[in-house]
Amino acid sequence: MTVDRISKDELLANYDTFLFDADGVLWTGDIPVPGAIEWINLLLDDPSKKVFVLTNNSTKTLDQYMKKIEKLGFGHLGSDNVISPAIVLADYLKSKPEKFAGENIYLIGTENLKATLENDGGVKCFGTGPDSIRDHTDGDFIHHVDMSISPRAVVCSYDAHFSYPKIMKAANFLQDPNVEYLVTNQDYTFPGPVPGVVIPGSGATSASITAVTDRQPTVFGKPHKPMADFLLRRAKVDPKRTVMFGDRLDTDIMFGNANGQLSITARQQNNETEEPQKQGWISKLLKGQNSDPSSWQKQSHSSLL
Ligand code: PLP
Ligand code: CA
Repeated sequence: MTVDRISKDELLANYDTFLFDADGVLWTGDIPVPGAIEWINLLLDDPSKKVFVLTNNSTKTLDQYMKKIEKLGFGHLGSDNVISPAIVLADYLKSKPEKFAGENIYLIGTENLKATLENDGGVKCFGTGPDSIRDHTDGDFIHHVDMSISPRAVVCSYDAHFSYPKIMKAANFLQDPNVEYLVTNQDYTFPGPVPGVVIPGSGATSASITAVTDRQPTVFGKPHKPMADFLLRRAKVDPKRTVMFGDRLDTDIMFGNANGQLSITARQQNNETEEPQKQGWISKLLKGQNSDPSSWQKQSHSSLL
């Protein structure tokens, strides 16, 4: 892989839409990446620049996400600047009222995702929280699985209560080809508050469902098309003048590449072990210190292979 560095001045001169991954790029957990707030504010203060945060995290409502953004010091960002798979998925459900309005959705996900899909997508979700049938011993629970409610879709996301009965219900609902299979995002893991401890994400829950069905899901987060299409509906974006800043090759950088945008990463590998704030990569860019190989790099498609 060739490493191709880029400076802040080059970015400002040649690009006018700036897309940012959130966790790992703007902040890590609850700590802003050094320089990120200044960089975002500098772009937002320039009327010729457009800024969007594209996160794959669907576990917060937009209101909760905006509170986090404000608390971390990114308060100049407005709710129109933030896009998550939950928002894109709710928009999709709303765009098909003949199929989804007021209808049941089987949701493997959090209460916050449920709130977003119900309030913004106009559907009714069931299935969140612990599945009570898991309390039955051995194979006995199979007799207690209630398949009488027929949903219009199975939505799969991150779910701390994910369980065998949930896989079974999803797989059985999906035997009906009219039941849509919708997945927020496919991040297999994401970093948590304990360094070195990975947390299985929506990629893990959805992979186990996909494994026991003959269905392929529609995926709404990076790097998939629904998120790119949603962005285009929200703003006029010229891919040649758009740059995507990310930390994961298989989501962020793929997204940039799939949409003909310049992609930039602070990392050369898809691992979550390096702490970006230790690198201070955004501060380096702002100060023009791009001689360090760990600073911002253009990411070529070949590096994905
Ligand atoms: N999914 C979940 C549940 C998360 O908590 C996170 C990060 O916190 C992510 C995905 C990845 O988010 P991002 O795309 O902002 O890195
Ligand atoms: Ca990230």
